[in-house]
Amino acid sequence: MGLTFENRTAVVTGAGRGIGKAIAETLAGHGVEVVCVSRTPETCTAVAEGIVESGGRARPLPLDVGDGAAVQAASEKLLSDYGGIDILVNNAGINIRKLPQDYDASDWDQVLAGNLRSAFLCSKSVYPSMKAVGGGKIINIGSMASIFGGAKLAPYGASKGGIVQMSRSLACAWAEENIQVNAILPGWIDTELTQQARKDIPGLNETVIARTPTGRWGETHELAGAAIFLASPASDFVTGVALPVDGGYSSNLL
Ligand code: NDP
Repeated sequence: MGLTFENRTAVVTGAGRGIGKAIAETLAGHGVEVVCVSRTPETCTAVAEGIVESGGRARPLPLDVGDGAAVQAASEKLLSDYGGIDILVNNAGINIRKLPQDYDASDWDQVLAGNLRSAFLCSKSVYPSMKAVGGGKIINIGSMASIFGGAKLAPYGASKGGIVQMSRSLACAWAEENIQVNAILPGWIDTELTQQARKDIPGLNETVIARTPTGRWGETHELAGAAIFLASPASDFVTGVALPVDGGYSSNLL
C-alpha cells in the first residue's frame, strides 16, 4: 500500500493559518483536492488561492464549524458538489485561558463547540458518503492537553481529551466500513495560537524549550508527515490511535 491520493478530496478545518494551512498545502501537494475552511473568508481564500497558484486544486469555504446548522448546510452543498469527501481533517480549534472559577458557561460552550462538537458533527456529516464509496480517513487534531492537565485549560483540555476518546469510539463504530479515525497530538508548535500564549504566559518559551527533548518548538510543516500517513492507504490498518508529534514532549518525565 502506498501513499496514493488519486482522485481524493479532503476537507481541512481551520486551514486559514498555522497547522491546518500546512496540512492543507501538503495534501494538495500530493494531488488531493482540498476544501480549506476557516471563519475568516480572507484567510481561507488566500490559502486556497496559494495552493492553486502552486499548481494544486483547492477551494475556500468560509464556515464556523462551531455552528451546527451551518456545518449541516455546508456539508450538504459539498456532498452535492463533490459526490463525497475522502479525507476529513478536524483541525479547527481555539483556547480561552482562565482559572476554572473565572470561566462562564459561554466560554465553556464556545471552546467545546469549536474544538469538539465541531469534529463530531463534521465526522457525522461525511460518514454516509465515506461509507457509500467504501472507506475514508478522518484525522482529528488533539493536543498535549489530550494527555496533560493545566490550571488554565479546563475547557480546552476537556475538548482535547474528548477528541481522543471520540476518535476511538468513531474508529470502533466505523472500522468495518473501512473508515479509519485517528488523532494527531501536536506538541508545542510555533503558530499564532502559541505566539499569543507566549505573550500571555511569562517564561513559556524557555519552559517549552527546556521540557521538549528536541530542545525547540515544532514547525507547522512537521505535522504534515503524520497527516499524510493517516490520510493515505499506508494507514488502512491503523485506527483509533492518538499519535503525538511533539519532539518527545509527552515521553519526557523531567
Ligand atoms: P491557529 O490559531 O494558528 O489557527 C487556527 C485556525 O482555525 C485558523 O485558521 C482559524 O481561523 C480556524 N478556526 C478556529 N476556530 C474555527 C471555527 N470555529 N470554525 C472554522 N475555523 C476555525 O491555531 P494552530 O494552527 O496553532 O492550531 C490548530 C489546531 O491544533 C487547533 O485545534 C489547536 O488546538 C491544535 N494544537 C495546536 C498546538 C500548537 O502548538 N500550535 C498544540 C496542540 C494542539 P478563523 O479564526 O478565521 O476561523
